[in-house]
Amino acid sequence: MPDYRRRFRSLDTDVVHAGAPHPRVEGAVVTPLFQSANYLMADETAYDAVRYIRLSNSPNHLSLQARLAAIESGEAAIVTASGMAAISAAILAFVGSGEHLLAQKTLYGGTQSFLDHDAPRLGIAHTAIDLADPERPASWERALRPQTRLVLVESISNPLMEVGDLEAVVEFARRHGLVTVIDSTFASPVNFRPLEIGIDLVVHSATKYLNGHSDIVAGAVIGSAEQVERVRHLLLHLGGALDPHACFLFERGLKTLVLRVERQNANAMRLAEFLAGRPEVRKVNYPGLPDDPSHPFASRLFSGYGGMLSFYAADAARAEHFLERVRIPIHAASLGGVETLVVRPSRASHLGLERAELARLGITDDLVRVSVGIENAAELIDDFRHALGG
Ligand code: PLP
Repeated sequence: MPDYRRRFRSLDTDVVHAGAPHPRVEGAVVTPLFQSANYLMADETAYDAVRYIRLSNSPNHLSLQARLAAIESGEAAIVTASGMAAISAAILAFVGSGEHLLAQKTLYGGTQSFLDHDAPRLGIAHTAIDLADPERPASWERALRPQTRLVLVESISNPLMEVGDLEAVVEFARRHGLVTVIDSTFASPVNFRPLEIGIDLVVHSATKYLNGHSDIVAGAVIGSAEQVERVRHLLLHLGGALDPHACFLFERGLKTLVLRVERQNANAMRLAEFLAGRPEVRKVNYPGLPDDPSHPFASRLFSGYGGMLSFYAADAARAEHFLERVRIPIHAASLGGVETLVVRPSRASHLGLERAELARLGITDDLVRVSVGIENAAELIDDFRHALGG
């Protein structure tokens, strides 16, 4: 069996080399695609040591998981069939029937819907907390129950790009013996590595930045060997393994993560600054802007502010006009790929929520979310100027 444990000193090197089989399989520079469901028996003594795709232990899984663990500063990682599989497995591995979790008040729509509609059927309750509440942690303490087991947060929230007081979350969770899980899809490990500030488990929709090419759906859970093993064990039975072909594409995409995200950070900053100065724009949400309420937290923790921003156009008609006229960005859901995408969250990711709830959260029809790609920044800005005007 090759050794998959090698890791290096920097993220830039790890995204290219960490976890690659040593020695290389048949001398191949790239980990070959092992499109085989099962493998010869080799005197395994435990069920989950048998090599089988659903057990996430093909060579493509082992190489990719070792690389992900290295780049998130974790001991171990498990890849999953989607970001939602990663999130639901991470929650269900630590919270059971009759138990409770605390969850950030604005979460990705699918996660929110899981907590609101599916988790209660399994006997799991949750209470929302505000990560930037001036009364923290007292307000979080009031939400605690004897049955509370876990705190679920996001590094940058969707679609208002809020960054909360994550260091206070770690401190609070440790004091109360709670497992911390962060969805760090928006930040990506290039900008922020949550395990380094003491978060227990990082989950990703790898569909987004980690793969980066809008051509697979995948997820990942990264953390200590012991906690990832609990998630892996549950996933074996939930059945949410990632197919080797998707692992292969994921590993290929991951190699350019640093280059892509650095360009996306720079492009997003230029676009945010441009939009903030436009009369057709009421407000820009981007943690990199000095007057953004999330700027102090993001500046303390992050090495870049990410490729996601959103803005309120003057009104809903102007937002619609912009989406119709813009030429380079693609009007589509999802995010984190090399191409710039634009979408109205009230009509896409948050379509499942009631209108009154959307208004309360500030997700109105004049809000446009931008996933900034790697295109030429000046050309993007010219296109945005043209689409906003007229
Ligand atoms: N987490 C965040 C922040 C997301 O934006 C998404 C998808 O949009 C998900 C999780 C779910 O990921 P997937 O679609 O890969 O299941």
